[in-house]
Amino acid sequence: MEGVAEILLHENELPTRVAALAGEIADAHPDRDRGITIVTVLSGSIVFLADLLRQLPLKTRLGLIHVSSYAGRNRVARGPTLIGTSLPDLHDQDVLIVDDILETGGTLRLVQSAVADAGPRAVRTAVLLRKPCRRDPEPTVDFVGFEIEDVFVVGYGLDYNGWYRNLPYVAALRAGPLGHGMCG
Ligand code: 5GP
Ligand code: MG
Repeated sequence: MEGVAEILLHENELPTRVAALAGEIADAHPDRDRGITIVTVLSGSIVFLADLLRQLPLKTRLGLIHVSSYAGRNRVARGPTLIGTSLPDLHDQDVLIVDDILETGGTLRLVQSAVADAGPRAVRTAVLLRKPCRRDPEPTVDFVGFEIEDVFVVGYGLDYNGWYRNLPYVAALRAGPLGHGMCG
C-alpha cells in the first residue's frame, strides 16, 4: 500500500493478542453478572473494539466518547479536544475505557477525568498500543496489547488524515522524519 513503510503487527497476530487481552479483562471482572460499561474513544479504537467485544465473556454495554488528537493533515498535536459523547449513566458502574494508542497521555487523561466526573464504581483502561513516551502525569493503564516504537502508525482503526483505518495490520506510515511520533 502506498505510503506504508513497514508492517509492525501482522493481520494474524492482532486478533490473537486481543483475545488474550479479553481474557485478562475478564479475569479482572470476576462478577460476570454485574457487567461492565465500555467507554470507547472514537474513532481510532473501533476495529480493536470490534475484535475485543466479541471475545469478552462479560455482560457488556457500550458508550462512545469522541476525542480529536491530531489536526488533520498536520501531525503536530494541538492537544486533545472533546468533540462529543454518547454515554449511558456511569454512576456506580464498572467502566472499561478502550483506546487505540497511548502516546503523550493527553487523550486518556481527558477521557479518564470525564469518566471520573460521572461517579463510576471502578475505572480500568485498555489500550491496544503503547509508545515509549515520557508522560507526566502517567495515566493509569491496566491492559496493553502491544508495546511499539515511537513511529506514527496506521491501520487496524488508526488513521492518517482520516485514511488507512481499514488496513488489517498496523504499519509505520512511511520512513524518514515524517515517520517519527510525538514522543521524541
Ligand atoms: P496521546 O493523547 O496519548 O498523545 O495520543 C493518543 C491519541 O493520539 C490516540 O488516541 C490516537 O488517536 C492518536 N495517536 C497517537 N499516536 C498515533 C499514531 O502513531 N498513529 C495514529 N494514527 N494516531 C496516533
Ligand atoms: Mg484516539
